[in-house]
Amino acid sequence: MNGRLQNINARRLKNMTKKTIFKKIIDHEIPADIVFEDDICMAFRDVNPQAPVHILIIPKKEIASTNQLTKDDTELLGHIYTVVVPQLVDEFKLSDGYRLVTNCGNNGGQTVYHLHFHLLGGRFMSWPPG
Ligand code: 5GP
Repeated sequence: MNGRLQNINARRLKNMTKKTIFKKIIDHEIPADIVFEDDICMAFRDVNPQAPVHILIIPKKEIASTNQLTKDDTELLGHIYTVVVPQLVDEFKLSDGYRLVTNCGNNGGQTVYHLHFHLLGGRFMSWPPG
């Protein structure tokens, strides 16, 4: 293998094994404004909020996107929807409504490849999104 190919492969391998920014937050390596944490997931304020309330809910398990979900993740998803979201809705007084959205892949606008749910509220949300 020539040197250039070796360099490209080394870079690819490094990216594949590199921690995402969210994994670093889970591991408390970088700070975040954490608003919920249990054994299964974590929620923290988005660093670039798009609404008065903009919280990211993430599983601690490393799942790149909705495309990588399997039947094994059924309980995890149920936990997020039936335990974490209601608790945050109550805590952040979102009973008037909110948007819970997951971007997947390039066309979906995903920028961080660790599954996450945006919980947005505190203002009226228009539709469709841009
Ligand atoms: P996506 O575009 O993948 O759906 O959403 C990623 C979100 O993560 C964006 O809304 C972005 O503002 C947020 N984000 C990126 N880096 C950080 C960070 O270091 N800390 C926090 N709290 N949010 C981040």
